[in-house]
Amino acid sequence: MSSTNLKIHQPTASRKVAFLGLGVMGFPMAGHLAQAGHQVTVYNRTATKSIAWCEEYTGATTKNGAVNQAATPRLAAQHAELVFCCVGNDNDLAQVTLGADGAFAGMAPGAVFVDHTTASASVARELYSAARNMGLHFIDAPVSGGQAGAQNGLLTVMCGGDKAAFEKAQPVAMAFSKAFTWLGESGAGQLAKMVNQICIAGLVEALSEAIAFGQQAGLDMNQVLDVIGKGAAQSWQLDNRGKTMVADKFDFGFAVDWMRKDLGLVLDEAKRNGARLPVTALVDQFYADVQHMGGQRWDTSSLIKRLR
Ligand code: NAP
Repeated sequence: MSSTNLKIHQPTASRKVAFLGLGVMGFPMAGHLAQAGHQVTVYNRTATKSIAWCEEYTGATTKNGAVNQAATPRLAAQHAELVFCCVGNDNDLAQVTLGADGAFAGMAPGAVFVDHTTASASVARELYSAARNMGLHFIDAPVSGGQAGAQNGLLTVMCGGDKAAFEKAQPVAMAFSKAFTWLGESGAGQLAKMVNQICIAGLVEALSEAIAFGQQAGLDMNQVLDVIGKGAAQSWQLDNRGKTMVADKFDFGFAVDWMRKDLGLVLDEAKRNGARLPVTALVDQFYADVQHMGGQRWDTSSLIKRLR
């Protein structure tokens, strides 16, 4: 796996940091930390990815920078002032944080755990409390911007937790962020990410219906998208996914399985807080249809497949 690097790294003091989870997102995010001159120790469950990461980023660092890999989250987190993490879901997050080999067992008092997994607000609050009881800090910090945002170091990051801990993380996390923003107490980052996913779900269904309608009507939809993308219908989804939807290409991007996980988190939270989400609930079922069509790993824009 390699990362495109459009980021110009601003000089910051070199920090000892760890990164847990070198998937589609974590691999390039950890790479930006190394390229910004931090001393990065990585952990990945499948060790081949940590080896590949070290090979790619050895020599990337400046000043005191160095890269290293560890066999467990606990070992990776030892000596780190900041421990970044990007794994799959709530259970994965519990596995890398808690228990004898979990990161919390290795972290020094006062160290900050920054979680970029899209997870529930409740697991964020539980881990915040567990960390506090051990003299540690936990920030929930899910991201938006996708694989390209991670590769280019231009993610939008939504944070919840103690402001002082957030302020320790922010200058370092700018290595892979366009914006890294504190939104309130623990769980606020995950709740903001849910707002983000509610916006995207309805929008992608509307874009799917619009493109399918235009194609049915015999229009040149690439030309139509160029025109309406300059007007009030413009969106990130239209700009970045419209033409690949017209061309029926979906083997990239943000997987339908992940979107269903995220919408599950949204619908659970809505049950708790009483919010009504009729369109989001429907689009979640549309994504279930796409999964049944074999599209578990297709990009989220594959909703249009149901209409063809
Ligand atoms: P991914 O490529 O599947 O990577 C997941 C990572 O988590 C891998 O390093 C995996 O290790 C590790 N992992 C999973 N379960 C684990 C466990 N139980 N213990 C230890 N490590 C475990 O996923 P991704 O696309 O990077 O997404 C990661 C998170 O970011 C998800 O919460 C996703 O919803 C969110 N997100 C993704 C995107 C996107 O466009 N991809 C955008 C925004 C947010 P192995 O290598 O051993 O499998």
